[in-house]
Amino acid sequence: MKETDWTKVLGWPGYRVYRHEINEPAKMLKLWVRRKRGNRKLVCSGCGRKLSEVYDTYEREVRDLPCFEFRTTVVIELYRVRCPDCGVKTEKVPQLPSKAPFSKRFEEAVGLACESAPVRRVARQFALSPSTVRAIDLRYLKRWAATRRKPALGQMGIDEMYLGKKQKFLTVVSNLETGEPLWFGRERKKETLDEFFEQHLSGFQRSVIRAACVDMWEPFRQSLEQWVPNCQIIYDKFHILQHASAAVDEVRRAEFFRKGGRAREIVKGKRWLLLSSWVHLDRTKKRQLNQLFALNRRVMKAYLLKESLARLWDYTYEGAMLRYLQSWIDQLRWQRLAPMEKLAAMLLKHLEGILNYCKTKIPMGVVEAVNGNIKALLRRGRGYRDLNYLLLKAQRLAATKTEFVAFQKAA
Ligand SMILES: [Zn+2]
Repeated sequence: MKETDWTKVLGWPGYRVYRHEINEPAKMLKLWVRRKRGNRKLVCSGCGRKLSEVYDTYEREVRDLPCFEFRTTVVIELYRVRCPDCGVKTEKVPQLPSKAPFSKRFEEAVGLACESAPVRRVARQFALSPSTVRAIDLRYLKRWAATRRKPALGQMGIDEMYLGKKQKFLTVVSNLETGEPLWFGRERKKETLDEFFEQHLSGFQRSVIRAACVDMWEPFRQSLEQWVPNCQIIYDKFHILQHASAAVDEVRRAEFFRKGGRAREIVKGKRWLLLSSWVHLDRTKKRQLNQLFALNRRVMKAYLLKESLARLWDYTYEGAMLRYLQSWIDQLRWQRLAPMEKLAAMLLKHLEGILNYCKTKIPMGVVEAVNGNIKALLRRGRGYRDLNYLLLKAQRLAATKTEFVAFQKAA
C-alpha cells in the first residue's frame, strides 16, 4: 500500500501519511503523519488565536482506532507557535483533545463503550487500565457537557440518597421537566442545598423556579424558603407513601416481638409482602397476606391504612383531598397504632405542601427515576469518588435514555 492510500484509510483531515510500519507478529500498525501542503493555519492552544509563524516542531504518538486486527498508533508532527499573549505554546489540533496519548475518535469509542458496559469490561476490550478508561470517559463526558445547551429550571426535584456508612447522604437536585440530575451535594443539611442556590444559580435563574418536589425534610424546606420564597413546595406521593410503608413495617416489627410461637413464624419474613401494593400481588401472595391478617389484626389494619392513603392523590380538588385525608385520620381513632398516628401528625404538619399537589401539576416519579439511574450506576461502577464524574454520567444517561429506569411503585 502506498502512503497516499494510507492517508485515505486514516482519514485525518489536513494530514497526510508519510511513513508506515507494519509489525505482523505483534499485530501493530504505526503511521507517521504531518500537515498537508496548504494546511498552515496554526491555532494557539492557550488562547485560540490564529498564527502562521512556526517556532519549532516536535512529535507526539497517540493511539487511534484499530485497523482490522492491527492496533494502530499515529505519530504526528506538531508545531509550537510563539503567541504574543501566551508565549511559546503548542498548536491546537482537533484530533488531539487532551495531553493523553489518544486520538479524539479513540476516546469517543471508549466513552461510548462506557455508556453500556462497566469500566472493567471496557478496559479489557481496549487493553487499557481501568483508571485510564475512567479518565477517558470523564473527558468524553466533559466535552459533551460543554457543547450542549442547558434547559431552564422551572420545576425542581430535591431528594436525598443514602450511599452507605462511609459517604452517608447525597443530596440530588434534578430538573423535573427534563428528568435529569443537575447537581449533587454531600450530606443533606440546609447548607447543602444553600450551596446549590447560592453558587450554581443566578438571581434570575432562582426567580423562575415555580415548584419544588421534596421529601418532608425540614432542612430542605428552610433552604427553599430562604432562596426561592415564591416557589411552591410540593410533597410528593412517593415520599409520603415511603413514610407510610415504614410505619407499616414498624407495626409489623412490634407485633413480631410481641407474639411468640406459630404467630411469630407467620409474621416473620413478610416485610416485602406488606410493602407491596395489593394490586401488584398474585394469588399465592394474597393468600399469604390474608393468613397473616387472620392472626394479626393490627398488621392488617396498618396495611389497609397504607393502601387507602395512596388514593389521596386520586383527588384533584383541594377540598376533596382535604376531606379524604380527614376521614383517613379519623379511622386511626381507637386503633392504638402509634406509628400510624405519628404519620398522621406529620401529614397534618405538612398539609399545605401536600394539598399543593392540586395547584401545580408536576410529573411524579421523576425524582425516583433519577435516583434509580444513579443507584444503577453506583452498583455497576464502584469507584465514583469523583461526584462530578457520577453526575455527568447520570446526566448523559438521562439525555440518551439508554437505560432509563422506569418508575416502579414500591408502595
Ligand atoms: Zn495564545
